[in-house]
Amino acid sequence: MQRKPVLLVVSGPSGAGKDSLVDELRRLEPELAYSVSATTRARRPGEVDGVHYHFLNRENFQRRLSAGEFIESREYAGNFYGTPRRFVESALDSGRDIVMKPEVNGAAAIKTAYPETVMVFLRPPSASVLAERLERRSTENADAIAERLAIAHDEAERLAAYDYVVVNDVFDAALLQLHAILIAERTKVCRVL
Ligand code: 5GP
Repeated sequence: MQRKPVLLVVSGPSGAGKDSLVDELRRLEPELAYSVSATTRARRPGEVDGVHYHFLNRENFQRRLSAGEFIESREYAGNFYGTPRRFVESALDSGRDIVMKPEVNGAAAIKTAYPETVMVFLRPPSASVLAERLERRSTENADAIAERLAIAHDEAERLAAYDYVVVNDVFDAALLQLHAILIAERTKVCRVL
């Protein structure tokens, strides 16, 4: 039976664990397409261009933005991020489920562009756990961590725009919930009508 693909957005504050959870979900679901975002942020150690992000300089990013190549784009903590249109459209056109992990404003813009988007908010168990995770990760300096925590506080107020909330306290439990959401969404009657 043919069914419409699921567009799964996993959003929530930086440090909530989006990257690890989505990585693991993709391991469980190798057919799931993943939208690699474009960014002007500097590459972190271990990040690979075209795998973790398409790393662009500002000029190149602006050029693509002006050409309408992003479904949405946002400035976050001083850098630009954007969701490439062509990849998402071709995945959906070919019936593939797709996952992406924009911050909350980007998630809202995706929902506007694709109203059938399934919106999952990933929440850290508490603000102090979030602070601890960002510090332990050591990918940002103290100012950048403070900025990300302030953004996280604002983001938490946006929960009403989401369909599901997953608390990432115990990783395996959060993964199970995220996977269950994807599986349940695939079986909805509206996807086969
Ligand atoms: P990071 O610099 O930690 O990789 O990402 C910073 C924030 O930007 C995260 O909350 C991440 O989810 C978000 N982000 C990544 N790609 C995109 C995108 O294409 N669009 C938007 N709006 N946010 C993104």
